[in-house]
Amino acid sequence: MRPIIGVSGIIEIKQGPILPGHKISYTSNDYIEAVDLAGGAPCILPLTKSEDVIASLAQSIDGLILTGGADVSPLLYGEEPKRGLGRIHPERDNFDIALFRAVHELGKPVLAICRGLQIVNVAFGGSLYQDLNAEDAFYMKHVELSEPHTGTHTVRFTKDSYLYSVFGEKTLTNSLHHQAIKEPGSGIKVTGQTEDGIIEAFEADNIVGIQWHPEHMAKHDPKMLQLFEDFVKRSVKGK
Ligand code: MN
Repeated sequence: MRPIIGVSGIIEIKQGPILPGHKISYTSNDYIEAVDLAGGAPCILPLTKSEDVIASLAQSIDGLILTGGADVSPLLYGEEPKRGLGRIHPERDNFDIALFRAVHELGKPVLAICRGLQIVNVAFGGSLYQDLNAEDAFYMKHVELSEPHTGTHTVRFTKDSYLYSVFGEKTLTNSLHHQAIKEPGSGIKVTGQTEDGIIEAFEADNIVGIQWHPEHMAKHDPKMLQLFEDFVKRSVKGK
């Protein structure tokens, strides 16, 4: 039996002529395919307000992928919204943080990708840059809309980190974010950065946080797939 890997879901409100206003629960299929390729059994966890459902989901899975998506509400880290803030989704913030806490408290591994990395940082008391374009110090392009499996910027890793053991000193990653970690939360060890100083990866107790999107690269780069394989191995069945 494969470990069950929960993949946090998103709600979208349908536009257009068929069922406008209808809510759809989904996630990017690249997470699903990457988990499958890595030997896990992917399972989409639908966004819910129910604490009982969240507790049951956390019990049922063996590992959690917190997925990418909309901006995190700055109210969660004590800031008012600035002009460059993108669309927020407070219900999803609440779901992701509650789900993360429930899974983490059970000692199960978490792979936090893009917005997921930001959510974990905020859950641990850290803060975010609301919009990198408003920060002159960060001169690199972090919203790159070429083919999403293309590595477009360099991330360098600190020695003695898990990510260094996978990639060595550096790797090329895609980049699809305009927010990033400002103050790291408690217990978060920064292990990957770009030349302009953006935090692109962290490691914490049974958590790997990644600012780029390895799920789009997993079919093209064996080391990106290895991130999922290692994560599935850490997700011990039925623990
Ligand atoms: Mn980046």
